[in-house]
Amino acid sequence: MIEKRQFYINGEWVAPLAPRDHDVIDPSTEEACAIISLGTSADVDVAVKAAKDALPAWRATPPAERIAYVERLLEVYKARQQEMAEAISLEMGAPIDLAFAAQAGAGISHITNCLTAAKSFEWLHPLGDGTPGAMIGYQPIGVVGLITPWNWPMNQVTLKVAPALVAGCTMVLKPSEEAPLSSMLFAEFVHEAGIPAGVFNLVNGDGMGVGTALSGHVDIEMISFTGSTRAGRAISKNAAETLKRVALELGGKGANLVFADADDKAVERGVKHMFNNSGQSCNAPSRMLVERAIYPQALEIAKKVAEETKVGNPREHGKHIGPVINKSQYDKIQGLIEKGIAEGATLLAGGPGLPEGVNRGYYVRPTVFADCTPDMSIMNEEIFGPVLSIMPFDTEEEAVKVANDTEYGLTNYAQTQDPERLRRMAMQLQAGMIELNGQSRGAGSPFGGIKASGRAREGGRWGIEEFCDVIAISGYAAE
Ligand code: NAD
Repeated sequence: MIEKRQFYINGEWVAPLAPRDHDVIDPSTEEACAIISLGTSADVDVAVKAAKDALPAWRATPPAERIAYVERLLEVYKARQQEMAEAISLEMGAPIDLAFAAQAGAGISHITNCLTAAKSFEWLHPLGDGTPGAMIGYQPIGVVGLITPWNWPMNQVTLKVAPALVAGCTMVLKPSEEAPLSSMLFAEFVHEAGIPAGVFNLVNGDGMGVGTALSGHVDIEMISFTGSTRAGRAISKNAAETLKRVALELGGKGANLVFADADDKAVERGVKHMFNNSGQSCNAPSRMLVERAIYPQALEIAKKVAEETKVGNPREHGKHIGPVINKSQYDKIQGLIEKGIAEGATLLAGGPGLPEGVNRGYYVRPTVFADCTPDMSIMNEEIFGPVLSIMPFDTEEEAVKVANDTEYGLTNYAQTQDPERLRRMAMQLQAGMIELNGQSRGAGSPFGGIKASGRAREGGRWGIEEFCDVIAISGYAAE
């Protein structure tokens, strides 16, 4: 049993002030794999004080030096990627190959992209022609609180920590209590990279305790949060009193429009994308809208892909999917599968209960529903499991309307060979990200949504700007 009860504060591992044990559950066995401690507002006060004390020196450190620290962090991260993959696989059940390449790998890409953006970031630049002496400056916002989820743990942590560091902020991270081991390892990386004490601090805890203490803290200027829409609302309300900036990355219910002229692989790609990470991705294309002319073939392909998707032990190599995170998510997913059946969708593959031959672990059968209608629960609620809902459509207008008619707006997808239609999709689909023909986001592009998906923009230049105050300067004497 791994015992990791300490917090990383002011450059060292310290004991919690009022220790409260919390089991981290391995979702493949349903058994505790580690014990951590949940902090209190008193621990948060200590961590925030450390961050506040470290702020003047860190913000005065020239950007090039801050960048050099993050470069060292990247080197340590790369050297210890395997350890990171093992921690992620253990705490949240991603199969080890996915955990290494995609989960731990995401951290490497985000830090790399952040460094690229940071190197060309103009911290002070002229406003423009006709405004002599007018300058725009970017100053660090100050002490920031970072609150992250369990589903892509390092993806989220690095999308926040790297830009906050280069921007000159100091920080307190509260990772998900479901998946804290990867973040504790990340804190070791920060330490090994020699980042000055107090710049990065980590306090474990739950949402009600440490999360609330951070979002209401008088000395924190900004909360950067990734997680559920429910928690995003609670954080916004609690942060209002101290007028913090709140950057939210929340849930999603992505639509994937597959037109009759889509490439041969479009349906297969969409189903596999949905099942990736056991369906636990905020940007999963969970609603597949298929033009009626190819609907029967699409259903055949979707059924085949689902039936061929293997579910298995996260410790084993391979392309299988692992369990979902915990009992409550498992129960929620089962409930939604039952609801899909009760509301009249056609169960094409998978369904309720554990996969064949499995008797423990939170494993879900890769499930596909056909003949869905926009009013069904499975077309509206974020399921966060390997469950795909498919519906046919007759016209482009109808498909766009269904795609947009959701409270969420994180990522929408379209598959078509018609360049004019691609242009229309790019401008008519309403979401923070639109991915056409299976092309994923370019390196350094911003990740974020609209509406109930939150309006943060993380990654690349935009990710750095989020941690800055934009300052209008006049009367500046250029050299
Ligand atoms: P969650 O909202 O329950 O928890 C996320 C984090 O917030 C955890 O650290 C948790 O302890 C904390 N938290 C919970 N309630 C809080 C509160 N009242 N105040 C402060 N902190 C609080 O979400 P989860 O179950 O960990 O993650 C799944 C959700 O995250 C899904 O809805 C998913 O779509 C979303 N997500 C979004 C993105 C994105 O970038 N848009 C990325 C990944 C996950």
